[in-house]
Amino acid sequence: MNPSILRIAIPCPLPKLFDYRSTEACTADNLIGRRVRVPFGNRKLVGVIMETATESELPLARLKPIDALLDTAPVLDTEILDLLRWAASYYHHPIGDVIASALPVLLRQGNEVQIQGITHWQAAPTADPETLPTRAVRQRSILTLLLQHPQGLGNSELDAQSENWKSVIRELIKKGLVLAIERPCWETDTSEPALRSAPELNAAQQEAAESIKASLNENERFLLQGVTGSGKTEVYLDIIEAVIAAGRQTLVLVPEIGLTPQLVRRFRERLGHCIAILHSALNDRERLCAWGMASAGEAQVIIGTRSAVFTPLTQPGLIIIDEEHDASLKQQDGFRYHARDLAVMRAHRLNIPIVLGSATPSLESLRRCEEGAYRLLRLPQRAGPAKPPRIELLDLRRGQQTEGLSGFLIDEIHRHLKRDGQVILFLNRRGFAPTLLCEDCGWIAHCQRCDARMTWHAGSRLLRCHHCGAEQPIPSHCAECDSERLQPLGQGTERIEQALEETFPDIRIERIDRDSTRRKGALESSLERAHSGESRILIGTQMLAKGHDFPGVTLVGILDCDQGLFSADFRAAERMAQLITQVAGRAGRAERQGEVLIQTRHPDHPLLQTLIHSGFEAFAQELLTERKMAQLPPYAHLALLRVEAQQREAPGRFIDQLLSILPRIDHVDLLGPVPAPMEKRAGRFRYQLLISAQERAPLHEQLHQLMHFIREMPEARKVRWSLDVDPVEMF
Ligand code: ADP
Ligand code: ZN
Ligand code: ZN
Repeated sequence: MNPSILRIAIPCPLPKLFDYRSTEACTADNLIGRRVRVPFGNRKLVGVIMETATESELPLARLKPIDALLDTAPVLDTEILDLLRWAASYYHHPIGDVIASALPVLLRQGNEVQIQGITHWQAAPTADPETLPTRAVRQRSILTLLLQHPQGLGNSELDAQSENWKSVIRELIKKGLVLAIERPCWETDTSEPALRSAPELNAAQQEAAESIKASLNENERFLLQGVTGSGKTEVYLDIIEAVIAAGRQTLVLVPEIGLTPQLVRRFRERLGHCIAILHSALNDRERLCAWGMASAGEAQVIIGTRSAVFTPLTQPGLIIIDEEHDASLKQQDGFRYHARDLAVMRAHRLNIPIVLGSATPSLESLRRCEEGAYRLLRLPQRAGPAKPPRIELLDLRRGQQTEGLSGFLIDEIHRHLKRDGQVILFLNRRGFAPTLLCEDCGWIAHCQRCDARMTWHAGSRLLRCHHCGAEQPIPSHCAECDSERLQPLGQGTERIEQALEETFPDIRIERIDRDSTRRKGALESSLERAHSGESRILIGTQMLAKGHDFPGVTLVGILDCDQGLFSADFRAAERMAQLITQVAGRAGRAERQGEVLIQTRHPDHPLLQTLIHSGFEAFAQELLTERKMAQLPPYAHLALLRVEAQQREAPGRFIDQLLSILPRIDHVDLLGPVPAPMEKRAGRFRYQLLISAQERAPLHEQLHQLMHFIREMPEARKVRWSLDVDPVEMF
């Protein structure tokens, strides 16, 4: 029998399902999880059937019928739908929006679910570059490249090799020298990996792997804390092989920058071609294809960034979160979920194990170990021959400096280069200089739209605001006194790169930051040059800190660690320690002893001293004690209501109004309104209300009330507001 009413999740700001009349098409009984197209206001939207019913609050005659049923089978199974429902309620986010964010873009737009082919370019069997005119240099070189890859190359491989190759390929196709072929997406990686066998695991690795493998049929949660280079990835691979042997799938979540070609290659070499990759650099078709392979059960391993946590799996067996402390696992706008926390919940509901891995676990996860909720597995030593690096602090108040590089550091760079070592220099500030200063009157170039300084970018010859993206040409005169004596103050990665080029004229230097890697494929080629040893000095931001394995690096210099010591954000010290430890872990990964030099103006700072002399674990213990005394996470639970508006007073007034009508729940603290640490940003004034409680239950009761009242307030339409549950960034 036809259910007469369909309850549909529709992407819109209202936190509810919408009732529609079903049509003739809806005869099957497995309607839940299928997509429909429905009239909504004066638009047509794609929604997902969540429930069927025979009654509605509205009279049947007033309900609109759906326009079309889009699928013949559910695109989201009940396991994922239930997880998403739970997430919508936990994060107090509208269900329709939550459901939509779990779907690949093409499905959100109403396209068909089918595993589509991906276009590849192949040289025609008879093609010969010599038949092309000698001046057709680019055609010749691309044809030669294709001839070297008889299996053909995909778009992303060509992107990595050449710019504007598309017009060249078009010409070659016209001449009949190149063919476009469609291939299923899992064959995009045409370089057949040479399968590699596993190294023999050392005792600690073996113990960790055995513990996890003993729990493959239960919801045990593991925190695998292994120093960088201790062989966590080998442990993952070992347990994944066991999961594959049991006929089940593994979902691996990695940070945005952690999903490097190196990592994928390593998985492919060990496991063969059964891996679906889901990350933001894929185009929509590739993404849908990988998603389809996972949800059809064709991929045994799914490696993806944050949103891959929502991938449907037919035979889920294990979830792994690599670099579980990484902030990119948290979505920072719209539906603000934490992929790690959702993964823990998902594993619990599926009754499968989950492994959180990190060299520098989050305080949240360390605390869960103390509570007995997670089992701690340690890999205390580096695998193979590598020894831990020697760490030393360099006092920036003493001695000479060149553009932020102390004389001692420069000498050490010379020494390591001479011994054929590679050098990584780390500075978490891109651009040429963070400030433009007038030497005559002290004027500083500020962003018009933010409480922030403009950063000087030498490459693009612009001043740029890193908070709102505003840009302007570099002024030739001071805006206050018209003086021409404008000076860039301080250092960013561009400036360090320039200084290094002057100091080491014969050495290839690689800069790796968001500016240098904007072009598609640029990061891959930079990493390739770093990996092969062609680049000898790498200067970069936190993009360099994650996951990369550069066996030739013997010296790591951290140019400025003081930002993390004195910050308004209570997580700053934790992040600084994670970053230092991760960057330091890049040193001496192969046979040679590594060295880490940290420049600071506060060498006596107790936190730095603990980190350097006692290591990350001791440091984390000290931070936990501080957090406990201050009643901050993980000893309390937070939510942040952010409100912004174009008028300075509006956001604070709105929060005051809300507080005047909001019923209070016991054991919940409401702190605010307070201006955000950066009060003005992108032309808007920002205030926040911090909601905190020791227990989750009262916190969520309070948030429930809060959302209810905000949605009733007419003033809410005049400001922009958002609620962030378990916020990671406090601005
Ligand atoms: P992590 O993921 O903890 O940073 P990896 O798994 O990348 O560590 O291992 C670091 C390096 O040590 C890699 O080059 C890896 O091949 C090597 N390695 C890991 N385990 C072993 C082992 N048991 N025997 C020899 N080499 C190993
Ligand atoms: Zn001036
Ligand atoms: Zn700005």
